[in-house]
Amino acid sequence: MLKLSNYINGEFLPPLNKKYINNYSPTDGKVYSLIPDSQESDVTIAVDAAKNSFSSWGRSKKEHRYEWMMKLADAVDKNAKKLIEAESFDNGKPEWLAKTVDIPRCSANIRFFATAILHFDSDSHDMDGAALNYTLKQPIGVAGCISPWNLPLYLLTWKIAPAIAAGNTVVAKPSEVTPYTAYLFSKICDDIGFPPGVINIVHGHGNTAGHAIVQKSDVVSFTGGTETGKIIAASAASQFKKYSLELGGKNPMVIFEGCDLDLAVETAVKAAFLNQGQICLCGSRIFIENSLYARFKELFIEKTKKLRVGDPKNMKSNLGAIVSKQHLESILSKIESAKNDGGNIILGGKQIFLDGDLSGGYYMLPTIIENTKNTDEINQKEVFGPVATILPFSSEKEVVNLCNDVGYGLSASIFCNNISKAHRVAAAIDAGVIWINTWLLRDLRIPFGGMKHSGFGREGGKHSLEFFTETKNVCVKIENSENK
Ligand code: NAD
Repeated sequence: MLKLSNYINGEFLPPLNKKYINNYSPTDGKVYSLIPDSQESDVTIAVDAAKNSFSSWGRSKKEHRYEWMMKLADAVDKNAKKLIEAESFDNGKPEWLAKTVDIPRCSANIRFFATAILHFDSDSHDMDGAALNYTLKQPIGVAGCISPWNLPLYLLTWKIAPAIAAGNTVVAKPSEVTPYTAYLFSKICDDIGFPPGVINIVHGHGNTAGHAIVQKSDVVSFTGGTETGKIIAASAASQFKKYSLELGGKNPMVIFEGCDLDLAVETAVKAAFLNQGQICLCGSRIFIENSLYARFKELFIEKTKKLRVGDPKNMKSNLGAIVSKQHLESILSKIESAKNDGGNIILGGKQIFLDGDLSGGYYMLPTIIENTKNTDEINQKEVFGPVATILPFSSEKEVVNLCNDVGYGLSASIFCNNISKAHRVAAAIDAGVIWINTWLLRDLRIPFGGMKHSGFGREGGKHSLEFFTETKNVCVKIENSENK
């Protein structure tokens, strides 16, 4: 059985307690590797290594960091095939998705921040010739980077890249549910001789290894569930350290009369079911203007019926496996609760079993539910699976209220061909990321993040670099020349 190791100070180390966690592939439900069950003591070694390396990496020239990061991005690309297969096997997502989204985005993240740091500027404020203020943006120290299982290496590198570009060193923890590509990534760092101690990867559970990273690092970047975010916020805030939280969502899609209906349907199918609906930005509450409701429903069902759930290796599978048995059960129980609240399952709603070697995997049908109220649990709690509700509305004011009547505020998509209405509704919806006539169109420079229970802080472009640096103002008094 493959045993993963922690990667600390450029070395592959077993957990000090020699204990391991089973790693299942959701594609067949079998254990295929063992993950270090790291504890505080392992994290301490990693943080010490990161502190030690900070003294040189943190003072190094930007060009030095740029060159190492570009080398790393190239090495990721060289290993793309292996990473794609591993991401799909570990997470259950179709290989085509790992090939077109996850793994290319990993090297893109690294290249993006390697170059962004070269252009990262700071302010100066002239006091009418009497003094000059200039702002330094300095690395903070050891960055704790904690990521979830839905986009494993994509999100881990989305944190590691800006942290190290800005001159910090990192102790990162991937989700214990999908640790494998982070391990392969540490192998890649090792292969190219990436400066030891700059990137350290510790595996393990959240409440042990993750908690210790939050406690011991100097700045914390977290992506994951809202409940975990609350714990991390309490822990980081009590130590007065900087933290950023990218959390859950319950994102609305709003389909207005007069929009391009085919585009709206096609996009809604993608937004509801891509990555088995396990993307924080997935559109899971679809509000449709009354006059369009029947036609939208018909087309939405028709298109969704065509989606194939199957072997993630098969390029024709639109959906692969749900990430874990526990998560599949959680999704199915939320569908049950929707039924109990009066919801009508108009498509899917159940687990399916594939043949042969994959018969033990965690697969389910894409699910559409109608006759729900916005106040029902299915519309208020994040399901994070291939489940969407459709709900009619009759006015702009009503739909804005429906969109906002939820604890989350991550993203929203509006389908509307009336320019003024689209802008009005975009401004009125409480969410950090709004799309008009599209979904998941991403520019790495934009501020990315959520409002309300969807998070705190923004990632992306200069926002990530601001987060991973400390701002210091230096005021220089300029003597008056008349006295000279
Ligand atoms: P999770 O909160 O259970 O775990 C995320 C990470 O936090 C894991 O690495 C876990 O080990 C660690 N962790 C757990 N408890 C911890 C603790 N007490 N201290 C420190 N670390 C701890 O989330 P998940 O189930 O892995 O991911 C799904 C969630 O992530 C969903 O809610 C989804 O919406 C959210 N998500 C948000 C974004 C975003 O950008 N807003 C992106 C992707 C996923």
